[in-house]
Amino acid sequence: MILPLVLHPDERLQSVTRPIQEITEEVEELLDNLQDTMIAHDGVGLAAPQVGKNLQVAVVEEEDGEIIELINPRIVQATGETIDVEGCLSITHVYGTVARAKRILVHYYDREGDEMELEAYDYLARAIQHEIDHLHGVLFTEKMIERIPEEQLESYMEGNEDD
Ligand SMILES: [Zn+2]
Repeated sequence: MILPLVLHPDERLQSVTRPIQEITEEVEELLDNLQDTMIAHDGVGLAAPQVGKNLQVAVVEEEDGEIIELINPRIVQATGETIDVEGCLSITHVYGTVARAKRILVHYYDREGDEMELEAYDYLARAIQHEIDHLHGVLFTEKMIERIPEEQLESYMEGNEDD
């Protein structure tokens, strides 16, 4: 089910989320709905606060289209730094560069309740860091180095194709 997006400036985007204690049907439904909502809006990641749920749940789409479901995710290692452009489904028409760790090691639970470990680089590492920030009430605009005007976005992306 596609849920309505919570848009900036809504204070629900700035609250710290609660960890999931038990994976109930409600949590599984939230994962499904986050995925449906992300795809409907052509996003590459979506966190529970963006649909008004104050819980540590997020989804991220890999470059090959595979969806990673993150429950209680935490970054246990972060190395390197890379700067690239980001946007957010909750902050329409704003794009800008953000510095992120180039490589992260993230621990999380999947919907079966199994503890997972994932090593992510570059694009995927960036997407996961952006979503985990949402779970701590942090928006990318707070970390934005330089705003990229929407009409320059395409040429900016092309210039960074090899990153
Ligand atoms: Zn976002």
